[in-house]
Amino acid sequence: MKKIIAFDCDSTLSAIEGVDELARLAGNDIFQLVENLTNQAMNGEVPVEEVFARRLDLIKPTRQQCADIGQMYLDQIEPTARETIASLQKTGWECLIISGGFAPCIEALALELGIKRVEAVPLHFEADGSYRGFDENYPTTRDGGKPEIIAKIKAELSPDLTIMVGDGVSDLETSPLVDHFIGYLGYVTREKVAANCMHSVKKLSETLTLTGSL
Ligand SMILES: [Mg+2]
Repeated sequence: MKKIIAFDCDSTLSAIEGVDELARLAGNDIFQLVENLTNQAMNGEVPVEEVFARRLDLIKPTRQQCADIGQMYLDQIEPTARETIASLQKTGWECLIISGGFAPCIEALALELGIKRVEAVPLHFEADGSYRGFDENYPTTRDGGKPEIIAKIKAELSPDLTIMVGDGVSDLETSPLVDHFIGYLGYVTREKVAANCMHSVKKLSETLTLTGSL
């Protein structure tokens, strides 16, 4: 039986929000501007895809800054993440990461957890490591991106069981496409997620109870 479990990254596999930390590295003024844009997107004043490009244009993350964020993800890894992923893999679950964050920031965490497939936004750099742009066609740069990725993975791998674990509304959006959606409420409890998730956990290791019975 083919079993797939996909995890969100920010505020799920690790405590941090990578884009906020990148913005902080760019200085306080940039951080404020980025925060305002994020709020405008959350209030529905500006479409997600527009905010996505504008935030990156402000931050212009370098390859080195992305590596620094990678280290932060590791330093603040969810306390039970390693044992949970190892145990899931041992019992035949294929673990993936699906993130609206940036692939070069998430690589180190995926490597540490032994997760081979990472679905996250690719960034492009110049030869000297400065920022050149991002993959504007990547699904998680827009609303409905995570369901799109889940649909693609299901078409590709034909799993018998699919689970998504995450803290955000963009994760919750995958609910109609997965067999079980698990809300991760260990770092942030978003009202909409808490109210609408089929299952919720405060530690990743709690997912083992559900997955073990499937
Ligand atoms: Mg998240």
